[in-house]
Amino acid sequence: MQWRWCIFIACSLLVSPLYAQWLEKPLSPCGCRYALSSATSPLRPADILHYRLSLSLSMRDNFLQGSNQIRFRSMVPALRRLSLSAAQMTIDSITLQPNHERVRFSHQGDSLHIDLPSPLALNDSATLTIYYHATPNRRGYYFYTAAESGAEPIAYTLSQPYDARYWMPCYDEPYDKATADISITVPSGFIAASIGRLVHVEHIGNFTRYYWSTHFPVATYLMCVTVSRYSILRDFLPPTSERDTLPIEHYVWRQDSLQAISYFRDVKRMIAVCESVYGIAYPFEKYGQAAVRPFSVGGMEHQTLTTLNQALLFNENLIMHELAHQWWGDMVTCETWRDLWLNEGFATYSEALWQEALGGATALRRYMRTRIRPRNWTTPIYNASPLFGDVVYGKAAWVLHMLRKQMGDTLFRELLKRYGMRYQFANVRTADFQRVAEEVYGSSLEWFFQQWIFRTGIPKLEYGWSKSQRSSSWELRIAIRQTQPEPPFILPMDIQVYSASKKEVFSRTIQSRDSTFVFLLSEEPTSVFLDEDEWILKESLNLTDIAERSKLGLSFRLEQNYPNPFNPTTTIRYELPASAFTTLQIFDVLGREVQTLVRARQEAGRYTINFDARHLPSGIYFYRLQSGKFSETKKMTLLK
Ligand SMILES: [Zn+2]
Repeated sequence: MQWRWCIFIACSLLVSPLYAQWLEKPLSPCGCRYALSSATSPLRPADILHYRLSLSLSMRDNFLQGSNQIRFRSMVPALRRLSLSAAQMTIDSITLQPNHERVRFSHQGDSLHIDLPSPLALNDSATLTIYYHATPNRRGYYFYTAAESGAEPIAYTLSQPYDARYWMPCYDEPYDKATADISITVPSGFIAASIGRLVHVEHIGNFTRYYWSTHFPVATYLMCVTVSRYSILRDFLPPTSERDTLPIEHYVWRQDSLQAISYFRDVKRMIAVCESVYGIAYPFEKYGQAAVRPFSVGGMEHQTLTTLNQALLFNENLIMHELAHQWWGDMVTCETWRDLWLNEGFATYSEALWQEALGGATALRRYMRTRIRPRNWTTPIYNASPLFGDVVYGKAAWVLHMLRKQMGDTLFRELLKRYGMRYQFANVRTADFQRVAEEVYGSSLEWFFQQWIFRTGIPKLEYGWSKSQRSSSWELRIAIRQTQPEPPFILPMDIQVYSASKKEVFSRTIQSRDSTFVFLLSEEPTSVFLDEDEWILKESLNLTDIAERSKLGLSFRLEQNYPNPFNPTTTIRYELPASAFTTLQIFDVLGREVQTLVRARQEAGRYTINFDARHLPSGIYFYRLQSGKFSETKKMTLLK
């Protein structure tokens, strides 16, 4: 059994020396342990450097009491007021360090304005402590009794995008990351899990206090607290040249622990796949998952501790999705919610990468096919509405899939690595990702980002093809029409042409509403496919709509043979509007089949068949074409 059980308190003693670090963190000269990229962050008067949050949870109801000590830096010449978000809570008092001097504040709605006794100069820092209590009504902070959860009393936070303010006063924007220490006091018997590393556990009468600390900056929506009577499944990943040993800790109810061991068995392999494909070691102190119920979503990628819906622990794609967010969302975080696809598209495409790791190209294609949901994609990916609509998940995953095809696997991996490393522990906009992509690719990708990220719609393609014999070769003509209501897309695409003995692949770029490509082939083509390997996001290629079919000039049609009468050869031409099983048979006047010229599945297109009748006597014959539900018969005369 790969999971090791241990008694929680015993383990916590092993880490207790770190408690000293929790009490007094070494700070860099600027007061921040990480030089955050604030150059691109939206203008704001102050930058939060560190949260020291202390929570006491009753675990009998939704009452919580807390204090949040906030260290911040002025980003203006004279900062007189710090404005934070604090929703549906009572602010008891606010003091200024180091003398615990009380400061004035106003609290209206979600806005908490704190007046500083004296202006704070540019880049100077100060520390305030806010004392508060609240009874959050299942927003931001959720409490359920044992009867309500069906197992144990449970309390957890769920903050994305703007609900951290319901359980802690904070600067509640994804672009203001800060380091954090979180202590949670709960009645003994409960286990309180949070982000970062557990540095100390303290027993105080009938209560237990858990001290968590993260060495890495975290956005407020990625902070969390999860409390219940949990069992802990512990494991670890051995160190690599890029990182230390990685502790893994999952929090589940005892009743779920055996199944969870089975469901979570691939987590270590998933981490290894992520590290390999992204080229970046797992970025944080630990990884874990905490199961909760009831839960309104599938999972939430809190930094170092995913919150998982207890009903979905079996879902490997969900587990992979939330894990991938540790890199894409947590390590590299969208600057504002307009760029949410930089979190969700990457996490969703990582589900595809996991399927590819398990089942190769076929599994990758199969997964990507399931993510084509154009009816749900009514807005551009950028600044999507609704914010968490499928466009920032499925369509954004397709954008990465297409970018990978455009760049090639080697450059795509280089892109992931360079983008991840450059913006590690910072925030990003779409333009940042595009810039790195163009840098790696060596050419502008403006057309790509414009049509896929900032515009709506996906291509709807219809195509037909015809062939004609030249002296020693075949001419293949392919006509493609983009029928979507949106303007034409630029679509670099592979065209696969099959003949009796080989398959040829031609790369062409579709640029306009109608495109025609002509190829000279050494062998007679038997079937033609656009993008057979499914690298381009598009709707069905099947010609099923009669109006659209007629636009392209394809219908079910059997032409009179030529020449007629004939001796001994003649040519039969026909046209198919859609892919179908097709037969072309020759009958004599008594209705006996004398020859079958075609018996195969054929694509939509125009066909030319040569009929050699030198083995047949003179007379009247009939040729019948059947394709799908269509059938037609014509008469011809052999005159020897
Ligand atoms: Zn996600």
